Amino acid sequence: MSGFIPVNEPLLNGNEKKYLVEAIETGWISSEGPFIKQFEEKFANYIGRKYAVAVCNGSVALEAAVEALNLEKGGEVIMPSFTIISCAAAVIRAGLTPVLVDSDPLAWNMDVNQLESKITSKTKAIMVVHIYGLPVDIDPIVEIAQKYGLKIIEDAAEVHGQTYKEKKCGSFGDISIFSFYPNKHITTGEGGMILTEDETLAEKCRSLRNLCFQPQKRFLHEELGHNFRMTNLQAALGVAQLERIDEFTEIKRNMGKKYTELLENISFIQLPLAKTAYAENIYWVYGIVLKPEIEVSAEIIMQKLNEKGVGTRPFFLGMHEQPVFHKMGLFKNEKYPVAENLVRKGFYIPSGMALTDEQIKIVATKVREALYECV
Ligand SMILES: *Cc1c(COP(=O)(O)O)cnc(C)c1O
Repeated sequence: MSGFIPVNEPLLNGNEKKYLVEAIETGWISSEGPFIKQFEEKFANYIGRKYAVAVCNGSVALEAAVEALNLEKGGEVIMPSFTIISCAAAVIRAGLTPVLVDSDPLAWNMDVNQLESKITSKTKAIMVVHIYGLPVDIDPIVEIAQKYGLKIIEDAAEVHGQTYKEKKCGSFGDISIFSFYPNKHITTGEGGMILTEDETLAEKCRSLRNLCFQPQKRFLHEELGHNFRMTNLQAALGVAQLERIDEFTEIKRNMGKKYTELLENISFIQLPLAKTAYAENIYWVYGIVLKPEIEVSAEIIMQKLNEKGVGTRPFFLGMHEQPVFHKMGLFKNEKYPVAENLVRKGFYIPSGMALTDEQIKIVATKVREALYECV
């Protein structure tokens, strides 16, 4: 389709090409190359953490993070229902059970007020997931975690550069993770990062990432690991992207502001919060939720927008509505009304880093047309 505006396009016009060429010309293309260490050190420094371990995507970053914590099997990990499947998958693969919490209807993040009632004698950790560009209210979670002796796993895959009360997201968990998929604020194509202050945890993640090879006797294995390594090619992109992260944050905030200006007078839609008491939105994606008085589903509006040349994506389907988990006997009769409403009434519009002001105007016009044609 000519002139189609895709839901995401990354911006790769900094030093990406230069560093990639450097990686190729020096022959360093595997995970042994020098950009890996550079990317890890610079990213850790940017977020304000001691240790960073680069891996091949955000989903395995979660897997390694949960595995490294060595939580007692059969235990429970509290997390939002409204998130990506990677979160629940990591917990289940480590032999634990996810326990779900509904979302706040305005910020779309885990409703912290419901958290404490989910704690049992089996609870081992809380997985905090910052959704769509606004951070979770972390202080009360840290308090609860300390009170009950729980670990915090922080999924910051949608909030690179975001802060909670002036401190960077990704610096709050006992272990925190990022993704560098092309729709994230900075990208390496595929990629992820694990961050921690704990040297032992960092070492464990490095070992898990690299098949648990041992430094002295490489092919003698005391533990079972994975190949979760990032390549020097990916890290080359990461170093270049990280150079521009503050600029990228500004681009996203500007995008969000413009969309809101153009759409805020449509009475029957809910737009992302511009800010909360502790953060300004960085709009990982610009989401729209149809208000309850509207009968049509998000799916109909998305179809209409596709016909008009505008790419969209649905919101997450809550973990408690996933057939794969029902087959495992999980979450069967559980109800989380906010998460259920978000997936039926929510979708997001083009929000990528390369989106131009002109495209923002076109998208807003088409969204308005599509809404009024369907409602
Ligand atoms: C993107 C994302 C992930 C997974 O990252 P991948 O690199 O795509 O595997 C994990 N958690 C959240 C919240 C995400 O948005």
